Amino acid sequence: MLPPTPIALLDLAAEHARYQVELDAAWHTTVQEAAFIQGPAVEQFAAELGSHLGNVHVVPCANGTDALILALLSLGLPAGTEVIVPAFTYIATLEAAALLGLRPVLADVLPNTFMLDPAAVRAAITPRTGAVIVVHLFGQCADLEEIKQICAAASLALIEDNAQALGATFTFASGEIAHAGTVGEVGTTSFFPSKNLGCLGDGGALFTRNAVRADLLRQLANHGQNQKYHHQHIGFNSRLDTLQAALLRVKLRHLPAAQAARQAFAASYDAGLAGISGLQIPARDPRSNHVYHQYTVAVEGGGRRDALQQYLRKHGVPSAIHYPQPVHQQPAYAYLGYRAGQFSVAERLCQQVLSLPIHPELTATQGEFIIERIQAFFAA
Ligand SMILES: *Cc1c(COP(=O)(O)O)cnc(C)c1O
Repeated sequence: MLPPTPIALLDLAAEHARYQVELDAAWHTTVQEAAFIQGPAVEQFAAELGSHLGNVHVVPCANGTDALILALLSLGLPAGTEVIVPAFTYIATLEAAALLGLRPVLADVLPNTFMLDPAAVRAAITPRTGAVIVVHLFGQCADLEEIKQICAAASLALIEDNAQALGATFTFASGEIAHAGTVGEVGTTSFFPSKNLGCLGDGGALFTRNAVRADLLRQLANHGQNQKYHHQHIGFNSRLDTLQAALLRVKLRHLPAAQAARQAFAASYDAGLAGISGLQIPARDPRSNHVYHQYTVAVEGGGRRDALQQYLRKHGVPSAIHYPQPVHQQPAYAYLGYRAGQFSVAERLCQQVLSLPIHPELTATQGEFIIERIQAFFAA
């Protein structure tokens, strides 16, 4: 049985077609103005995104991985300093630390939200720890309340890898509401095309509430210079292209509607998939809203996830596995010396997670079809 209309895991062509006139105008202006590096759109976009996130400093850069490198560089941690990262994340989170000669220290994640377990963070702290990188995975905030407290108590810098949760907010016990990425010393994000706010190529940004740090980050991303040919720091070239900034200004205007569409679609998944035995739908932390970069379920039982993925593929429903292998079992990170079984939640999730289609172009009919197919698989 095939879907009434083809279902895409992500349909950027259809989404961009809706903004075509605005994207064409942005492209046209950029070509005419010919200020391709650090042109006016870069600062305009940074200011617009900053006010969208509650008046935070935004420093654009070349991609989300560079943003993590820049965030760590700005802390000036001595080589060998330990940086605590979740054992279940995209590789870039620890790659940035490893590349700078810092030592990634893994901490396991919670079985319900799949995000950093505060107790595991506490247990991983040593006298050599300098920072914690929390990842707001799949579009929801990690436990910022606890992790912020742990960092403050141990004098550790908190970095938020917010590549997947731009626009999410977290409500603290004090009643304060903060945007994901604006709570720690530095927040980072990615505008990789598939992210909720994606450009038409690579892009990234850093967030901070500290004007001095924003200035440092701006310099580090531009050869460490405070003015042309005056280099205060050893930096590198990690600038957001003017063209990407101009296109991002268009897409930022449409982000609230795209986010609402994702949330509505997720609510229909929740309603259709709740209560299926052997299937765990995404857990919601009541303190955070969820912008659903991914709608990721967990399928219990050996081999059952792969069977579901195959069954869905046969019925024209694409899906993806985020992520198939835990970071401590990646060959490049064998030098960290971790053993199989050491991060049991992360290891189990790699066997069980499956991300279903979720993007603003999906129709209600397609949603019903996907839900019916999943129900049929579990009923068989
Ligand atoms: C996408 C992503 C990154 C890296 O972003 P790039 O722009 O591709 O370099 C880092 N961390 C997480 C959690 C991501 O999802």
